[in-house]
Amino acid sequence: MGMHQSYAPGRVELLGNHTDYNDGVVLSAAIDRGITLIGDSTGSTRVQVGDPVAGLHYETDAEKLAPTKEQDWSNYLVGVLDVFKKNGLPVSGFSADISSTLPQGAGLSSSAALEVATAMLLIKIYGLEVKLIDVAKMCRRAENEFVGMNCGLLDQASSAFGKAGHAIFLDCRSETVENIPFPKGVELLITRCGVPHRLIGGEYNERRAQCFDAAARLGVKALRDVTSARLEEAKATLPTLSYQRAAHVVGENERVLKGIEFLREGNVAGFGELMFASHESSIRNFENSTPEIDKLVEIAKTLPGVLGSRITGGGFGGATVTLLRKENAEEVKEAIEAKYKEQTGNTATAYICEIADGAHIIA
Ligand code: ADP
Ligand code: MG
Repeated sequence: MGMHQSYAPGRVELLGNHTDYNDGVVLSAAIDRGITLIGDSTGSTRVQVGDPVAGLHYETDAEKLAPTKEQDWSNYLVGVLDVFKKNGLPVSGFSADISSTLPQGAGLSSSAALEVATAMLLIKIYGLEVKLIDVAKMCRRAENEFVGMNCGLLDQASSAFGKAGHAIFLDCRSETVENIPFPKGVELLITRCGVPHRLIGGEYNERRAQCFDAAARLGVKALRDVTSARLEEAKATLPTLSYQRAAHVVGENERVLKGIEFLREGNVAGFGELMFASHESSIRNFENSTPEIDKLVEIAKTLPGVLGSRITGGGFGGATVTLLRKENAEEVKEAIEAKYKEQTGNTATAYICEIADGAHIIA
């Protein structure tokens, strides 16, 4: 036995907000920050996970897995072991020490990074062969069933399928992934508003239910099956709230497809406009932004070289993603932080993010 090491990145959602659980399409990218796990088989059913630096430690038995409320961070790791077992994979006890460069609860999907890194570590330790799409699906199931967060496939698939210099196009109905080259000469700036998002059990599940309800009213299996033309025809028959929620998801699906065309043409200005439109729809239709996030987008809009900016991730706090010209990146980063502080008194943290490779085994 020797120690093994796995890595899984966070992700940034570029377009396609709340489309994943509506059978829709998403454009995302893996980022250059993530979670590393170092661990091994324990040679028994003992499971031992933690972060010595953060003072986290949790132990359990691979034969008696159950979620814990007290040490809820451990559910993201232990849940993956549970799902592997439920899928009949030959796994048992393991140890894992966490080290992370990814902020938690910032909308960059530290939860999926933790799950996917765990899956990769188990695959290495137990010498398994698992397809990447199955890694993503099992990790999603762990988050759904063990953590209790009803997320779609976006976060886990993005962490698994990232590729340096490429966006990820995920079709959540066919569960297929394509890497699309990202144009040169532009950068992504991720800006955290300093107020963490709160997703579990709250607004996220409510939005999800509202989307399913809107699909039922429209007589379709999922909002994926509705075009904006069809939605406008049906507008008068729908409650305002159903129309708004559907308009966001339908619009996002269309913006993703348009966005892919723009990426292929190198039309970064067009892509940026879609990002602004996406954010407008979050404000007006989906109501998943916050005043702090809106302020960040509003500030970004006034700065030189900025092509687009929007909320990224589930919402209700978190972070924005801004597309901007490379030569303006540093000054925009500093200006956003300074103006946000000036105008709100809060501290935002911006960083220029490289699009990076997805999850892998380091050793
Ligand atoms: P996000 O995925 O956007 O970062 P979530 O609320 O989905 O936000 O997941 C954050 C949770 O994931 C944290 O509250 C914690 O339980 C767990 N987590 C993430 N990173 C770590 C880490 N480095 N160590 C321990 N737990 C972590
Ligand atoms: Mg998460």
